[in-house]
Amino acid sequence: MNDTELDYYIEAGKAAKYVLHKCAAEIKPGVSLADIFDMVLDEFEAKGVHHSFPPNISLNECAAHDAPSPDDERVFAEGDLVKLDIGTHVEGYIADTAVTVDLGDHAKLCEASQNALEAAIKMVKPELVVSEIGKVVEETITSYGYKPIINLTGHALARYDLHHGLSIPNTGLFGNGVLRLDNAIAIEPFATTGTGMVHESGRAEIYQVVNDSPVRAPTARKIMSRAEEMKGLPFARRWLNVPKAELALPNLVRLGNLYSYHCLCDVPESFVSQFEHTIIVTEDEPIVTTR
Ligand code: MN
Ligand code: MN
Repeated sequence: MNDTELDYYIEAGKAAKYVLHKCAAEIKPGVSLADIFDMVLDEFEAKGVHHSFPPNISLNECAAHDAPSPDDERVFAEGDLVKLDIGTHVEGYIADTAVTVDLGDHAKLCEASQNALEAAIKMVKPELVVSEIGKVVEETITSYGYKPIINLTGHALARYDLHHGLSIPNTGLFGNGVLRLDNAIAIEPFATTGTGMVHESGRAEIYQVVNDSPVRAPTARKIMSRAEEMKGLPFARRWLNVPKAELALPNLVRLGNLYSYHCLCDVPESFVSQFEHTIIVTEDEPIVTTR
């Protein structure tokens, strides 16, 4: 990685960190999900950085990929456990970072994933097999009496590419990939009171272009042209502003033009916490761009 690339990663990370903490502080009972979603985007603009994916605001048993729908009226409630997961990029160099905001009594559950992340970061070095990270994440979370979510992982980052090859597991059970010098990675432990596995729920608010083959229907064409402004990065249904988009989106997914990110949830009435940082692998101490 050259110095310019590293500077972009660091700039993206610094902005993401600032915006994450500023917006997380505004998550309170009565505030709407849409307000926080829009606030993140306004703050990115004020900092002069782009979003690399729509802010994810996932509640309680849902771990990831929720975002307000175009007509969303949900507000945070007393007792909610809120994951705010946001991403910036500068010239395509991405920062991906998340915190959990506890509006209830889930302090220990939050501590479990936060300490798992800190323990994982301490291990990061070239040639480390990623299952070693997963093992430490799993041990930390289980020491609190919770389960890690084993079918969600961290990931490597590349320019304009949020999930590039390598996955960083939250369990020691799998992961034979190896960290290399200069890798940019996101580590994101999830701790749960539920089963330790997420499934797709009915909601899909986040999409991504995977194939730009021409489509005929006018609504589908409008969606594809809006979607392509995102340079292959994920976008929110909320951003489309295309009438009747909700009818055309499932078709575009079936045709293979779009990928849909469904909300990923553990079982009802469980609670999930998550923390995430973006990290550059160096010969010495890793660089945590979002801390
Ligand atoms: Mn994230
Ligand atoms: Mn991530």
